[in-house]
Amino acid sequence: MRFSTRTKRELAHIIPENRCCCIAELSAFYDFNGYLMGNGSYLDINHSSPLVTRKILNLIKDLFPQAHTQILTKRAQLRKDQICTVRVLTREHAQLVYENLMHQKYLDTTPRILADPCCRRAYVRGAFLSHGSITNPAKTYHLEIFTDKSQVASKVHLSINSLGLESKITVRKGNIIVYLKNGEQIVTLLNLMGAHHALLKFESIRVLKDMRNQVNRLVNCETANVDKTIQAAIRQTEIVKFIEAHMPLSNLPPKLYEIARLRIDNPYATLKELGEMTRPPLSKSGVNYRFNQLAKISEKLGL
Ligand SMILES: [Zn+2]
Repeated sequence: MRFSTRTKRELAHIIPENRCCCIAELSAFYDFNGYLMGNGSYLDINHSSPLVTRKILNLIKDLFPQAHTQILTKRAQLRKDQICTVRVLTREHAQLVYENLMHQKYLDTTPRILADPCCRRAYVRGAFLSHGSITNPAKTYHLEIFTDKSQVASKVHLSINSLGLESKITVRKGNIIVYLKNGEQIVTLLNLMGAHHALLKFESIRVLKDMRNQVNRLVNCETANVDKTIQAAIRQTEIVKFIEAHMPLSNLPPKLYEIARLRIDNPYATLKELGEMTRPPLSKSGVNYRFNQLAKISEKLGL
């Protein structure tokens, strides 16, 4: 499954605790794909993903239990995918939902952004689920949210940046794109949106990639022998990082935990040097043995 799809799937399952944040997230879905139709007699929010549609429906049902809702699906023109619509029926209930979306607590900015940081995070999550994507970090660092509505783009841009990040804006094929290209900032945004599994995956790939880059720079001016030592060190680090992505390292048997920690703290040390750091000291083959044990554990976990 694509990294982006997996991240969205995780976010689609989050229902905020606070009512204010539920309304905030719903208002993002409305800003991107919502319409007050038939002269105000019903309210539609569209989405191409059934999973996200279900979330929109659940948010509406939790917030406005009295509202009558309907789910409609139709094939998108010229495209194979479906469009799902959550419809709030009757003028009274459509107006009730609309009023709630429009009358949240705002800051005095242009365009207006939500006053509470908790709500801004929920808004950005809704925006990302509406029209967002994230590239597999193994390829490149890129997260974006696009829309053809400039007010909505500015609102997303301002909301993200008010949370301490530096998103940028560009225009592509009639759409306005709000994007982040910095790995650390993408991690922070994933955290703010609540995508903790995606964050963990992103981080472990990022750490390895950074290390490979560092090592490649080193290897270029080292001998073949050193090269081999470093290749082994990378492999060992990879194994430890993989295990760490699945369980706390401290759950390992103490001897394996010791060597795993030493490897992480001394990425370029040789086996002999690592052996001198253990308590009590170990021979090179003793260190090697422990790494073989770690490799077995990582294989069991699916490496
Ligand atoms: Zn809130």
